[in-house]
Amino acid sequence: MGFTMKNIGNLFFHGNRSQRKVALTFDDGPSRETRELLKLLRKENVRATFFVLGKHIGNNEKIIKTIIREKHEIGNHGYSHKSLIFKSRKFISEEIKKCDDLLLKKFDIRTNLFRHPYFHFGLNAWIVTYRLKKKVIFCDVKVFHKPHTLVCGTL
Ligand SMILES: [Zn+2]
Repeated sequence: MGFTMKNIGNLFFHGNRSQRKVALTFDDGPSRETRELLKLLRKENVRATFFVLGKHIGNNEKIIKTIIREKHEIGNHGYSHKSLIFKSRKFISEEIKKCDDLLLKKFDIRTNLFRHPYFHFGLNAWIVTYRLKKKVIFCDVKVFHKPHTLVCGTL
């Protein structure tokens, strides 16, 4: 008998498994690698979700604009990519809001999607993301990992 994680409240572990679909997500950008990924996705006519880091937005605004123009989704991956485990609610809230503020000010984007750095998550992160009305997107298949890109498939 297999163990199946359920989606709980604002925590999403997987999609509807009766549909044979995969949600592709890319973390830690935008960066130079994001350009290559966008080329590949364009060629294959595939949409994905990019969980971006606030600290990488400033130098890569063109890439974010391309992500938006090509109708991919953008999610929040925090500002600095620090682990959220054993951190105060204030710290966690600031990490999320700093990235949100940049997306809103520079690109007029609001996202309710959040992925926690290193998949580190605790009670404080749960409380903060719930209060900020974020959907926390976990990942059940890590497909590929480079220093600046984590590719996940969620079934
Ligand atoms: Zn990450």
